[in-house]
Formats: sequence, structure tokens, C-alpha cells
Amino acid sequence: MYGAGDVRVENVPDPALQEPTDALVRVLRSCICGSDLWPYGSMPASEKGRRVGHEFLGVVEDVGADASGLKAGDVVVAPFVWADNTCDFCAEGLQTSCRHGGQWGVDGVDGGQGEAVRVPQAQGTLVKLPVAEDSALLPSLLTLSDVFCTGHHAAVSAGVSPRTTVTVIGDGAVGLSAVLAAKRLGAERILLMGRHKDRTDLGREFGATDVIAERGDEGIARIRELTGGDGTHTVLECVGTRHAIEMALGVARDGGVVSRVGAPQYTEVPMDFGTLMRNITLTGGVAPARAYIEELLPDVLDGRIDPGRVFDRTISLEDVPDGYRAMADREALKVLIRP
Ligand SMILES: [Zn+2]
Repeated sequence: MYGAGDVRVENVPDPALQEPTDALVRVLRSCICGSDLWPYGSMPASEKGRRVGHEFLGVVEDVGADASGLKAGDVVVAPFVWADNTCDFCAEGLQTSCRHGGQWGVDGVDGGQGEAVRVPQAQGTLVKLPVAEDSALLPSLLTLSDVFCTGHHAAVSAGVSPRTTVTVIGDGAVGLSAVLAAKRLGAERILLMGRHKDRTDLGREFGATDVIAERGDEGIARIRELTGGDGTHTVLECVGTRHAIEMALGVARDGGVVSRVGAPQYTEVPMDFGTLMRNITLTGGVAPARAYIEELLPDVLDGRIDPGRVFDRTISLEDVPDGYRAMADREALKVLIRP
């Protein structure tokens, strides 16, 4: 990515092992993230550009001497940050704060939207998948890299359970994943706020019981009307705008929890005296996907959940610039890349 609206496909040198803890992965599937659209919309023009893509799964091609447990031919998924999975933060399930970890596409590390990736801290980062390279489950397995784990994180952080009512704000891929995650955790009432019918239709199939197209004060009034005036115990904010967080606080039931996973495009949250008097908790954050993959994997493998349905377009690497455009124009919900 060289700047806003400027994504280019280029040939770069093949990655090679640099550290004994590295592995090389040939990418089978990658995708474009809603969070990639923020720099796509606003990144200042740059001569050097930066690598992009932080969601991928693929086949191990080569393994460093200190990356045990992996071998050439393994099909693996990578979470959207790399981590050693052994430090104190990782042991607490916070691999996003790993003392020896980092992000894809920066500091000489490859991005996932390409043919191959050098994976640092491979033993801790990669999770083996018991499937073949041509498995029909690849799209759903790819969602464990980020989007489904992010929806799950929103729900878990909020404390979603069979006893809680849930509002999900946003009908993007993360919002729909949050609906599916809330349903999986036993929520019986899931109110989805979104305005794109094809997306909210998928939300209903994922478990949403009500769809609210209204926004702002009208949206808040509608949720309150549907919940006996109270709002819901939990609110999963999956957009990231100030407008969305304000709605989230407005539809939370007294004593409720707002969990935010949308990349915030604001610097202040209106947690005023009123929210104190209503005992509203604000939580959420970046999802430590690595902490959730083993737990969610069996449900994907046995077909109990099919989070890969958020992909509504598949493209080749050459078409990645158009994939960004399609997602930015809301023409595609989430774009799957098949190098
Ligand atoms: Zn760590």
C-alpha cells in the first residue's frame, strides 16, 4: 500500500529463513480486513509503501532449527499478530502483548496478502490444521486468523452467556462474526444493528433475532422499545466510529457491558456522569486470536459453525487492488484471496 486508494501488486524477493525460530509458509488463502480499509482511506502517500495483509493460512515449506513441532507440508493458520506463545503475557492469553511478538507487514516482516510469508516465532504463532490443502473448510478456518476470533473476543469480553441479551452494532464481517460468536455462547436474544439487507440476512442466519436498521437516537429508541425500555446486558461495538460507541452506550442496560473491537477512529469516549450512575462497563480491545484458535477450531472442523460465510467474493493476487476498492465501496462484504 503506497497511500490512500493506492494498492499495488509487486514482485519482491522470495522470503528466506532469517532466525532459527522462523518458518516459511506458502499462502493458500488470505483476505482483506475491514481494518485494512482505514489506511486504504487515509494513508498519506509514501514512496516506499508498506506490505499489507495480516490474515492467512498456508502450507509450511521450511522450518528453522528452533521451531519444533512444525514440518514441511503442515497446513497452518496464522493469527493476525505473531507471538512466542510462551512469555508471561502469552501465558495469560494476551498474545497481542507478547514480549517477543509483532505485527505482519512491518519491520521487515512480510504481509499475508502475498504468495509466501516468513513467519517469526513460528512455533508459538502457527496452529496446525488437520485438513488437506484443498479442504472446503479453508475459508472458515481462515476466519480464525482474525475476524471470527475478533467477534468471539467481543462476546467473551462482554460476558455473553445464555443469561445475557446482546446488541451487536455493525453488519460488517466482524459484526456478523460477533453475532455468530454470541449465538455459540448461548445468547438467545441478539439484536443486530445494520442497514445492509444482504448482510443482516446473513446475520439472521448466524443467530440474530432482531435487525434494527435505524441509527443514532432512533436506533437507541428502537432497541429500548424492543427490550422493555431497558436496553441489553451486553453491547458488542464492531464499527469503531464515535457514532457507534455513542449508540453502544445508549443501548446498554443499566449494569451492562459495552465491548468494543472496532478499530477506534475517535480519541474520547463519552463515559460521563450518566454512565457512572448507570454502572456501565467499557471493555474489549484487540483480540488475542492465538488464545482462542484451539477452542474454536473443533466447531469449525465439525461444521457446527461456518464463519467463512462472511466471504462473498474470491479473487486472485492480481485483483487485490480491486478487492480493496470493492470492500471500500461496500460492494463486497469480505474478500478472500486465493494466490
Ligand atoms: Zn509472548
